[in-house]
Amino acid sequence: MLALLYGAIAEMATCLADLLYPRACAGCSAWDYDVCPDCAALFAPQWRSVADHARFLLLVDGSTGQVAPAAPVYAMLEYSGRVRNAIVTWKHSHQASLTRAIVRLWTRGLQDFGGVLEPSPDPQQIVVPVPSKWKRAHDGRLVVRELAAAVAHQFGIPIVDALRARPPWLLAIAGYRSQSLGWFDLLAALMKDGLRRVKGFLRPGRYQSARFDERRAKREAVSAKISLAGKRVILVDDVVASGATLEGAIRALENAGASVDFVLTLAAPPAKTSSNGAALS
Ligand SMILES: [Zn+2]
Repeated sequence: MLALLYGAIAEMATCLADLLYPRACAGCSAWDYDVCPDCAALFAPQWRSVADHARFLLLVDGSTGQVAPAAPVYAMLEYSGRVRNAIVTWKHSHQASLTRAIVRLWTRGLQDFGGVLEPSPDPQQIVVPVPSKWKRAHDGRLVVRELAAAVAHQFGIPIVDALRARPPWLLAIAGYRSQSLGWFDLLAALMKDGLRRVKGFLRPGRYQSARFDERRAKREAVSAKISLAGKRVILVDDVVASGATLEGAIRALENAGASVDFVLTLAAPPAKTSSNGAALS
């Protein structure tokens, strides 16, 4: 009896959800598709190396002074236009059907990648998802984990949820503390700048100030949950932007004893170049 009742309630909830969120293509809003054929065509894989484009991924070698990426990073798609729309919609929705559609396109892309760089079969190799933002993880919207599970399945390598994200207020403290503000100065700064700064303190990224060190904050936002001595990691993320989160994840894995073979991501913004050809982002 109860089961019947729950069933009826669940069905009603689904109908309501359809009414409130009618199905439309995540890329272009065409009716009755999760991702329409036109937009799906834009998900055709165009693998490229993007480590040089993400400013925070570039590290300076202390002994040689050479600048090199923390790990090879590959992106399947360009994060722009309808592809960007589709990914943003996906990340902010709870739609299981959209997840299936995007994971299907990603899996198709991975088959292409396998031909370019076949990871050697090594029992030490694992797939690790970059942890989702704390709030997203609490809402159960683990989009990166879906992508990582597809990689693990495609390459026949186990997936290990080895990393965790810290809550945003801890991230904010790390960001401000890196400016060598003492606790007293930190409080004083918060009070002097009023509510806006307090909001920035609680929700870094939204009201970020010049005193906020994004790189430091994002690096410290990720930590390893377990020891990973000797493990070789294929790290997976959804979108590479500044690379600060990725760098934090790579560092956390290395601190736990692992090495990162390479990073696979769904998309990265188009490379911006200045007049002298140097990458800007
Ligand atoms: Zn579309």
